[in-house]
Amino acid sequence: MSDLNNLYRQVIMDHYKNPRNKGLVGDANYKKFHVKNPSCGDDITVQTKVADGTIQDVKHDGTGCSICCSSASVMSETLMGKKVTEAEDIIDNYYNMIKGKEYDEDLDMGDAIVYSGVANFPARVKCATVAWQAAEESLKNE
Ligand code: ZN
Repeated sequence: MSDLNNLYRQVIMDHYKNPRNKGLVGDANYKKFHVKNPSCGDDITVQTKVADGTIQDVKHDGTGCSICCSSASVMSETLMGKKVTEAEDIIDNYYNMIKGKEYDEDLDMGDAIVYSGVANFPARVKCATVAWQAAEESLKNE
């Protein structure tokens, strides 16, 4: 198990140091939502572009702790190319996993699985979900 935790930590640090899809675009085809986590100083904006019910692009920007910023990068890769309905299932499943509730381990969540350990640290739950909440709300605006 410690090897797995070590691997998960490496994935998180990689996304923190080399965030994917970072930087917002000035394009009216993107919907945008901003979420803050005052208890940690996390502040993330997510942009989503949807066409034909499919997520064409996900962008994010902001500041925060390593869990928050890395999870924004992981979220963008996980949801990219998914149908909006699939993305909503993944987001719900992710929340359940992070909160230590029952979740569907067979649902493909990409690298998002590396945050499963956050369930053991309730104070960090908000950090791991800020970017996902922003994505969820942004998709609702579509
Ligand atoms: Zn945080």
